[in-house]
Amino acid sequence: MSSAVQLYVSTLLIYLGVDIIAALALNLQFGVAGIVNFSFILFQAVGAYVAAVLTLGPSTPPPAGFQDYVLGATLPYPLPLIAAAGAGGLLSLAIGVVGLRRLRTDYQAMVLLVFSLIATIVVTNETGLFNGSNGLSLVPKPLADVLGLSPYDIGYQWFFVGIVAVVCVMAYGVVHAITSSPLGRNLRAMRDNEHAATALGKDVTRLRMLAFVVGGALAAVSGALLVEFISAWSPGSWFLPETFSFFAAVIVGGAGNNFGAIVGALLVPVAFLEATSFIPTFGRAGLVESLKWVAVGLLIMIFLAFWPRGIFPERRRRFRASRTGAASYTPAPSPCFVRGTDQPVDSALLEARSLRREYGGVHAVEEASFTVPTGRITGLIGPNGAGKTTVLGMLAGAVAVSAGDVLYQGAVITRLAPHQRAQRGLIRTFQQSSEFTNLSVLENLVVAVPRARGDGLAGALLTKRYWRGQQEAEVDRARALLERFAMTPQQDELAGSLSGGQRRLVEIMRALMACPQLLLLDEPMAGVNPTLARRIEEHLADLRADGLTMLMVEHELGVVDRLCDAVIVMARGRVIAHGPMSTLRVNQDVLDAYLIG
Ligand code: ATP
Repeated sequence: MSSAVQLYVSTLLIYLGVDIIAALALNLQFGVAGIVNFSFILFQAVGAYVAAVLTLGPSTPPPAGFQDYVLGATLPYPLPLIAAAGAGGLLSLAIGVVGLRRLRTDYQAMVLLVFSLIATIVVTNETGLFNGSNGLSLVPKPLADVLGLSPYDIGYQWFFVGIVAVVCVMAYGVVHAITSSPLGRNLRAMRDNEHAATALGKDVTRLRMLAFVVGGALAAVSGALLVEFISAWSPGSWFLPETFSFFAAVIVGGAGNNFGAIVGALLVPVAFLEATSFIPTFGRAGLVESLKWVAVGLLIMIFLAFWPRGIFPERRRRFRASRTGAASYTPAPSPCFVRGTDQPVDSALLEARSLRREYGGVHAVEEASFTVPTGRITGLIGPNGAGKTTVLGMLAGAVAVSAGDVLYQGAVITRLAPHQRAQRGLIRTFQQSSEFTNLSVLENLVVAVPRARGDGLAGALLTKRYWRGQQEAEVDRARALLERFAMTPQQDELAGSLSGGQRRLVEIMRALMACPQLLLLDEPMAGVNPTLARRIEEHLADLRADGLTMLMVEHELGVVDRLCDAVIVMARGRVIAHGPMSTLRVNQDVLDAYLIG
């Protein structure tokens, strides 16, 4: 190879490596965890800046010198790279605390976009911090002096390819360990349905933060490598369009798939944008430069419209067959289908005390007091708009109370977050199907396991060896549950592709995997065909026989009659009656509520 070709190929490989690390980072944040990080490039820029100033040595402000910056130091390699990762992680933490905690996902995206825009303005104007729009130059190439190589040698160029390759492999190792672990499964569940994940006890704020910080640190590393290679840091290289080229890479490659992210990095920022440099400019240099971003935008739109899952769609994970032979149904009470309780049957497992909820002037719930006895199925009925779902939301913690208290196992839990209640065994299901659409049926079940090995960062990084044993046991438990609910044939199907009734079954099984002590069911048979509804009814009766306590909102009075031991009747935000169905049938208040609606 002539040295010109070597130079071209090695340069492309370095850019490819840098882009692969960045694409893997964004894939973790966006593809796996569902965070629409419109300020992605900011983290790359920060990593690049930190690596540059920690290599450049002390600042040399004009008039004696020519560039002014903060943190000037000359750290030995690879400390600047490590510091860059730390800076990217810290900045992610700071931005995450402000932007990712209490907001809805779409607002989070807007906040991140605004951060990106503000950063651009600050960087361009702050001369003392970032040397203004001139940026930094003459960043020394790492280890060139140690090796005694001229940084302009082709040998050094290949050495740098080696550095990038090593970091790339390490970045892949980290991302792969996370995405293939129980932690990765939790992240994907959160992406598919945040409320359902919370209701199973997942701390989605922590999960989101974790993906954001790890992704931010990796983005910073990619930026650091880039600045060390090109020896310059210019604020103009880190604008919003660069963020979109990485989104395009992830979407084209296949969001949620690490291999897809690698292919996307090869196709979009490298091949696609490199190809644009061969387009004739017709004497107008800026034309191609601006049109290439239009092309990236079009590419994203075309893929979202025709191949939304990308070239390599996210893998549907299958679990190996059990080592202990065929899964068998463990007779109740199995260790975790139903969590053992110290409470005697019929004692109050849960108590609602004068619950109220207002929405502006609307009194959704005005006064709701009742108890839910241990080991029974309690029905919650009432005409449309009576406040049943709102009550369920207040018990589960998803809806804040305006006044009143919720007691569970004798303790006040009114201020506990929904995931904390779920961790104590208070598990709810939803009126609308809330399966994790892009997870298989079996994964939907296994993801619900509380405190699984490998669901934290450290456990995930310890890789499969650490968490496989426990996961196999949980997969067996999930398979036994599928057997019991006659859903074994569907175990590897994506939950989003099931019929409405099957999705309800998945939701009930998933709730059971979370070790409930009290199950709050919101119309578990709504929209289900009569045969399947009958089956669900039988399953619920079986679960009661296993000792599980349930509170069930239900419209079908026949079902309530057959299934529920006691029934709470609500109308216009109030509890108007409480007792067995036989007495309620002749209760004038109840009859009036149903007739008047
Ligand atoms: P359905 O049987 O139709 O599901 P429900 O008994 O579950 O009804 P809720 O959904 O709890 O009733 O609603 C009770 C009242 O509160 C209704 O009048 C509803 O319009 C109102 N409401 C519920 N959620 C909100 C909200 N987020 N904002 C404003 N009003 C609300």
